[in-house]
Amino acid sequence: MKLLEYEGKDVFTQYGIPMLKRAGIVKLGENPENLKLDGPGPWVVKAQVLAGGRGKAGGVKLAKTAAEARELTGKMLGMQMVTHQTQGKALTVEEVLVEDACDIAREIYISVVLDRKGSCPTIIASAEGGMSIEELAQSHPEKIIRMPLDVEAGLLDFQARQLAFGLNIPQKNFREFTVFARQLARVFIEQDASLVEVNPLVITKDGRLLAIDSKIVTDDNALFRHKDQAAKPDHEASEIEKEAKEIGINYIGLDGDIGCMVNGAGLAMATLDTVKMAGGDAANFLDVGGGANVEQITRAFQIILKDPKVKAVLVNIFGGIMKCDNIAAGVVEASKKIKIKVPLIVRLEGTNVKEGREILAKSGLKLEQADSLWEAAQKAVAAAR
Ligand code: ADP
Ligand code: MG
Repeated sequence: MKLLEYEGKDVFTQYGIPMLKRAGIVKLGENPENLKLDGPGPWVVKAQVLAGGRGKAGGVKLAKTAAEARELTGKMLGMQMVTHQTQGKALTVEEVLVEDACDIAREIYISVVLDRKGSCPTIIASAEGGMSIEELAQSHPEKIIRMPLDVEAGLLDFQARQLAFGLNIPQKNFREFTVFARQLARVFIEQDASLVEVNPLVITKDGRLLAIDSKIVTDDNALFRHKDQAAKPDHEASEIEKEAKEIGINYIGLDGDIGCMVNGAGLAMATLDTVKMAGGDAANFLDVGGGANVEQITRAFQIILKDPKVKAVLVNIFGGIMKCDNIAAGVVEASKKIKIKVPLIVRLEGTNVKEGREILAKSGLKLEQADSLWEAAQKAVAAAR
């Protein structure tokens, strides 16, 4: 799950990472006039969307006065933001962060990522922050520092010092930086993150070291360990995805028009691939789980059919723990409860497949059966056309 900048900064606060003073968060529908802005300013008004590159896209604005900060906040809320990281799509700005501004002398890049090859977290850092790290990695790979870390020990003191030397941290901020770097590594490890990024970490003209931006991506599989993370809204999930999650169905919306109902994540992936090979595109990834009963199947149909893009539904279920006759009965039962107006293609395989197919054939339901996944995918693609 990706955290918004201010949510990431809330986590940073728990680790004592130095940041600018926050004036407040304003949500869409709230009145910017209610912002408490004490102090002389200036402030920075920042669009809270899950994409970097906001600066260049008009999502980071400097306000010299309180009136200006409120005005900019009002204008930014509801804005459609397209940055180089949004893949051409526009994100609606639903929340705005207002915090103190500072005079920046230097911008540094630092992040903790998971190095899959090295099987360990790794710090990536560069004295040239602010700009896109991806571009820098292309043009000047030698300017990027990598430092693997031990998950048990975290970032060791000597490693933190090495980093500070490598980044040319001024003597005055040296100690501050090493503490910061070690804390950042702790955030990554303790929060079960897959990415923690500060771009930029700045040194201000008056000599302060501050994390100006935050990006945290956490691992959903570790949510059981983090009640606070689990309670947070998933900003990226669509309404259908949120509903599916609540009823325990693994569902991810995709761009195609063939709705897929499958049991088991592996079979679901294989189904997406086979649909693609047959010349179609799946509308979703859906895993009804191992014990696919009538209720789960009914709910899965309801979820799939909520997507208006769906032109055909492909059911591909392997009867293992659940026998095919039970699954077939479930499909029949479910289709009685909900009107399935699009073509339905069912492929069953496994225990009691003969009995299952008979139940489907005798049900009087308008559906097509298939012997193999390949046949099912081809039929689904043809039906969607
Ligand atoms: P993004 O990465 O989405 O572009 P950042 O938070 O990194 O957004 O902001 C972009 C740039 O705006 C920063 O590199 C920095 O130069 C400037 N900036 C952001 N916040 C502040 C702030 N509070 N004070 C001064 N400058 C800021
Ligand atoms: Mg940034």
